[in-house]
Amino acid sequence: SRPVRVSLRLHPYGEGRLLLLSRDVTTLEQAETMRRDFVANVSHEIRTPLTVLAGFVETLQNLPLAEDDRARYLGLMAQQAQRMQSLVNDLLTLSRLEGSPTPGTGEWTPLNTLTTRCESDARALSDLLHKQHRLVFEAPPRADVAGSSSELLSAMSNLVSNAIRYTPDGQAIEVRWQLDDSGDLEFSVQDTGAGIAPEHLPRLTERFYRVDRSRSRETGGTGLGLAIVKHVVQRHGGEMRIASTPGAGSRFAFVLPAQRVRQLSGSVAQPAT
Ligand code: ADP
Repeated sequence: SRPVRVSLRLHPYGEGRLLLLSRDVTTLEQAETMRRDFVANVSHEIRTPLTVLAGFVETLQNLPLAEDDRARYLGLMAQQAQRMQSLVNDLLTLSRLEGSPTPGTGEWTPLNTLTTRCESDARALSDLLHKQHRLVFEAPPRADVAGSSSELLSAMSNLVSNAIRYTPDGQAIEVRWQLDDSGDLEFSVQDTGAGIAPEHLPRLTERFYRVDRSRSRETGGTGLGLAIVKHVVQRHGGEMRIASTPGAGSRFAFVLPAQRVRQLSGSVAQPAT
């Protein structure tokens, strides 16, 4: 049983009578609180890098600096600008996802294509961050999936990029698609990182929820990645599965329903090219 907020109003109702109108406004109030929290969070997330940026601009304007200090400051400024850019990009992605109709079943994409693109994104990110993980992309089943290929790719890449960012360097990350007996299709990313304590798991897909704020920022996180994945997956009629063991690693997955899956003859694994 949940607490309920009720709005009560009295209306004149005929001669000498009053009508008591009651309305459950719980959902309305919750939506309003969520909207307010969201605006406060966005403002805070933008203000932090902006403050740092403005501080450096002032220093550069007012202090005579040695050339290498100048270069270092400019590097830090570029980092903050980049952070704001990622944030705005993720916010735009979220708002597009919320405002556009559910992807139909007219566009079919081979799993192989999605996997190949996801793998090349992952290797590029890994190089950019100078990481040496053992990235294993298993060859997918021979099947096509219906929906928006760009959204699905972004969901896959978000999960892989989290595994890269939160797994200690050198350890293994395994990425695979699996069909189950009912024809549902699961995409999973298994890492051997630090894992996440159980109390955090239910909140991970909330916007701006982070287990470790500073670690997320350090690795370029906006706190919106898993919220985007959840949206994409729900829009495709699927659901997310998150499991983690502290000290052993995490498994982030999503399942797409059989209606969005077209198995190709033989359904034997094909090599990811
Ligand atoms: P962020 O931009 O902070 O990574 P996400 O929405 O992608 O935002 O993830 C939310 C939080 O979930 C992260 O800040 C991190 O604490 C946790 N998280 C996500 N993926 C992993 C993972 N593979 N291993 C450990 N923690 C993770």
